[in-house]
Amino acid sequence: MRKVMLVTGASAGIGAATARLAATRGYDVVVTYNSDRAGAEAVAADAKAAGARVLTCQADVADPDQIAALFAQIDAEFGRLDALVNNAGVVDATARVTDLTHARLRRMFDINVIGAILVAKESVSRMLAQGDGGAIVNISSAAARLGSGNQYVDYAASKAAIDTFTKGLSDEVAADNIRVNAIRPGLIETDIHAKGGEPGRAERLAHMVPMKRTGSAAEVADAVLYLLSDQASYVTGSVLDVSGGR
Ligand code: NAP
Repeated sequence: MRKVMLVTGASAGIGAATARLAATRGYDVVVTYNSDRAGAEAVAADAKAAGARVLTCQADVADPDQIAALFAQIDAEFGRLDALVNNAGVVDATARVTDLTHARLRRMFDINVIGAILVAKESVSRMLAQGDGGAIVNISSAAARLGSGNQYVDYAASKAAIDTFTKGLSDEVAADNIRVNAIRPGLIETDIHAKGGEPGRAERLAHMVPMKRTGSAAEVADAVLYLLSDQASYVTGSVLDVSGGR
């Protein structure tokens, strides 16, 4: 039987690469997006071509009602959930702390932290009810370690919250055979940098990476699929850096 994987923010970048790879590894996939419907549909088409059953859903993770509607659709379509990739996330424009506004902080934490925790909550409740375990990968960032001073300390702080949540949740559900890990990607070539107002950011900072290059979404997806797989059966509460040594 194919396992069912939910990937939030699967219309682009790391989430899209993860959903595509998951389909080739035997998962059925739930592809969610916020605004990029065409991107999500392209990922869904590729996943179907790889043999997966696919549910494509619009769901803004900053809106609890949309999260509830997403899980109602998953329940109706698949009736189970085996794996979650908590990937949806945003950065914002480069700013110093003196420039941060309440509206910016709300958006950042509503999406990157509260949304991720609520999606994990709904996923865990289904995995517990099923009784046969599950696996979760939360997408953090190297920013959680680096702090991102003079760039976006709010983003870094939101990802540090994800690291701590990963540890706490992993402890709560370890005895239920639900493994919870996180990945801290480094400078990965996706559109997130352009969305934050700096399209060339990853390439500009590549010289700071010990490996002297940016990473690809596919390289992160490989690590995600490893952590979700039985090859990682004794790995939980871990945070894996996929950052070229940075
Ligand atoms: P991306 O290419 O911009 O993709 C972000 C995805 O998240 C898109 O599918 C987007 O959906 C979705 N999303 C954004 N806001 C959302 C919301 N409110 N509700 C639901 N989905 C939402 O970014 P990426 O680089 O792949 O980033 C994926 C994750 O990796 C993020 O958590 C990011 O913080 C983390 N990360 C990235 C890097 C990097 O260098 N790229 C480094 C470290 C960590 P729509 O496009 O449909 O709106």
